[in-house]
Amino acid sequence: MGEIIHLRIDGRDVAVEAPASILQAALADGAALTANVGCMGQGVCGACRCLVRRDGERQIATALACETRAEAAMQVSFIDYFTPDRPHRYDIAAIRDLWQLSDAVDTYFPEAAHCRHCSGCDRACPKGLSVQQGVALSVAGDFAAAAAIFEQCVMCNLCTLACPERIWPNHLGLMVRRAIAALTLRPSDLIRRLNEIERDVMTPDQTERA
Ligand code: SF4
Ligand code: SF4
Repeated sequence: MGEIIHLRIDGRDVAVEAPASILQAALADGAALTANVGCMGQGVCGACRCLVRRDGERQIATALACETRAEAAMQVSFIDYFTPDRPHRYDIAAIRDLWQLSDAVDTYFPEAAHCRHCSGCDRACPKGLSVQQGVALSVAGDFAAAAAIFEQCVMCNLCTLACPERIWPNHLGLMVRRAIAALTLRPSDLIRRLNEIERDVMTPDQTERA
């Protein structure tokens, strides 16, 4: 049997056998996890965002509970989901070239041009992405590079929580990724299949018409 470590999660004393992730420690505590779980340990959904203070440290760090090892005397607070008060509604299909994508950045994310380069988003990102640079590249119109930076984004929203200019960096990155994919990543076999469906040669369930 491994060492039993004790930590606090959302104000509760939790004991778990090491090694364990924070998420596994929360599960071991027996509480029903009805929020802050999504992919259950794959590190791809961003739902288990939390604040962490390690023993002996004054600084509070952001983390994904599924990817962060539980430590003795660690203090953890999960961050519940917050509803965007200013959702960005745009039509990707209406963005037909990079000029229009540049306009879309100005229209839907006007705050991005006012980034104060505080690096708060970089520090908050549990995936270690260069979020600030991704915002700057989006504003500068280097969309392929910006999309590449946000490729590993799990939409945990921690950068948005950290941004004093309310830029919503991950949502900006998502729009750029969507637009770049729509404008450039069109697999030939997919195009051929869609074309066949349009011409009524194939049905969507791939049953060839007689
Ligand atoms: S870019 Fe923002 S939303 Fe994406 S993983 Fe990093 S902190 Fe989370
Ligand atoms: S937190 Fe906001 S203002 Fe600060 S560097 Fe990141 S995007 Fe810019």
